[in-house]
Amino acid sequence: MSPLVVENVAKSYRQGARDVTALAGVSLDVPAGRFLAIMGASGSGKSTLLHLMAGLAVADGGRVLVNGTDLATLSDRALTVFRRRQIGLVFQSFNLIPSLTARQNVALPLLLDGKSDDARVESLLNQLGLAARADHRPDALSGGEQQRIAIGHALVADPAVIFADEPTGNLDSANSDIVCELLHDLSSRGGKTIVMVTHEPAVAAFADEVVVIKDGLILDRFEATARDADDVARRYQAAIRGTNDQAPMTSKGPMSKSQAAT
Ligand code: ADP
Ligand code: MG
Repeated sequence: MSPLVVENVAKSYRQGARDVTALAGVSLDVPAGRFLAIMGASGSGKSTLLHLMAGLAVADGGRVLVNGTDLATLSDRALTVFRRRQIGLVFQSFNLIPSLTARQNVALPLLLDGKSDDARVESLLNQLGLAARADHRPDALSGGEQQRIAIGHALVADPAVIFADEPTGNLDSANSDIVCELLHDLSSRGGKTIVMVTHEPAVAAFADEVVVIKDGLILDRFEATARDADDVARRYQAAIRGTNDQAPMTSKGPMSKSQAAT
């Protein structure tokens, strides 16, 4: 069974007097080692989907299976332990503990689980290019370094799936590329299964496959193996355009030659 299976998940939120449907029934099967990007406009349901898959929120309907376990069958306590061991999380805002060093932040999930593995922590710090910064606290580090610590924190327990919500949203383009490259390598060479939410074609282009969502539904999915941001932008816009009357757009401008010709 794939490390991540999502079956027809739905979620609504109460907003004042009305119910807002954030997800209207989404299914995904993410095989081991796949790097999947989820793209969609603001409000399309990306974060809601990620939160449900990571066990941070409970679906109104449908099922999420991580490593074969239906998250809904776990008690709160069991879910906390399961998430610590099987689910790695990376957020736009890094979410590090300010009073802990880089090394301690990376090691924290092991510590919370009553374990320690100094060799693994050092090897991760090396792999992430953080060895020289290991004794610094987050506020002494750049955004790119902080996000790499967060990735180390997400990886240290060797979880079944890594989830990342707009992981490059607070980074400049140089650091964004470093983090994207790292996620790509973790999947292509390290065999990690990664699901990343982004609205940027240049970021999604590092993934193996792109899933486009709109209004809480999957609109389209396509391979992104060529790492071609313009191609991802075109296909994303084409998917979005298929359901409304927006003017054709690419990441380079209103209409490319190839589109004008068709
Ligand atoms: P995205 O991450 O794609 O921007 P979200 O999943 O955050 O989208 O939101 C999808 C929809 O659900 C939006 O209409 C949003 O306003 C609504 N929503 C999300 N979280 C909440 C919440 N905690 N309470 C009420 N409405 C929410
Ligand atoms: Mg979001």
